[in-house]
Amino acid sequence: MAELIDVPPAAFEPKPLFPTMEAAAAVVDEVRDWIKDQPTWAWRGHTHAKPDTDEAEEIRYVADFKLPAGIECPCPCCTPRHAKFGQGFIAWFPRTRCIRLMGQHCFKRLNPDSHAAAQDEYKARMKHNGLVAFLVNNLGNRDAFRRAIEAATPLALHLDELQDILGEKLYRTWKIRLWDHVQTGALGLPTFDRDGKPDHGFRVYATIAGSSLIDPTRKSFAPRLKTALNLLDFRIPEDINAANTEELGKCVAPFSRSEKIARETFAAMEAARQFVSPLTTATIREWAKQPGAPVQLDIRRSGDELFVGKSEENRSRVPLRPYINRGPSGLPRLVL
Ligand SMILES: [Zn+2]
Repeated sequence: MAELIDVPPAAFEPKPLFPTMEAAAAVVDEVRDWIKDQPTWAWRGHTHAKPDTDEAEEIRYVADFKLPAGIECPCPCCTPRHAKFGQGFIAWFPRTRCIRLMGQHCFKRLNPDSHAAAQDEYKARMKHNGLVAFLVNNLGNRDAFRRAIEAATPLALHLDELQDILGEKLYRTWKIRLWDHVQTGALGLPTFDRDGKPDHGFRVYATIAGSSLIDPTRKSFAPRLKTALNLLDFRIPEDINAANTEELGKCVAPFSRSEKIARETFAAMEAARQFVSPLTTATIREWAKQPGAPVQLDIRRSGDELFVGKSEENRSRVPLRPYINRGPSGLPRLVL
């Protein structure tokens, strides 16, 4: 049996100090601060007497609290003199205007219906509070999100264009299926035996970044950014605090989704643009010159131009936009 705790009689006296839910909510910070180094039953507003049947008919869970690690306190509902709980509720009893600091599941046995109703109300209120906080913290950045997405759109269009130029068009013009050779990110070469004959082995000549640029199954970037932009067109309720959960959800859900799409697309764009970098194109060019290279190919980056084809004499010129040299940026972080 756990040790008996000497709870003084004053703790058991009713303290009807809280006429309203607002009055109860006003002491949440005080309680959370108190329980850091003081027992729950010694807090000035706590009533340690067990609620009677009538009082137990109505209860509201104002807020939760967590006792420091390893600390447990006695519960007014079930174990008034023995340590019982570490995760607590600040529970308000409207009929007596009292507050009890008690275990989160303790009240269930006293009155299952009141407990269930209080728990539902608490969860709904927490959800509502979370949505309000999300909007208060992030709405100020909505225009910054729009600007960042708009600023990245020309690069997205350019990368989508290059997917076609270095994919389908390259094949049509030069019969080169570049994707087949770069899709793993590793440029392979055959190996040779001592007599210089292919021995059916394989070695990795080099690895390259950004081959996703020309992945024929890659979803185009620009339409994804357009989707992200459109999702930001949600209507904000005039009074956020007064709006219901459904109204708030119609802002928070598209806002979060927009941010997720934009962030993922930005990251994918940043990766893809590496494919036409001077380093990557030089690596591919050198690889294609190696003995046994599986494709006849010449690719060269020169300033803002890319040349690609069968050889230096037989190749196409692909103009690159200067913004290919910088990744997309400026997307604010969501505050959660
Ligand atoms: Zn209890």
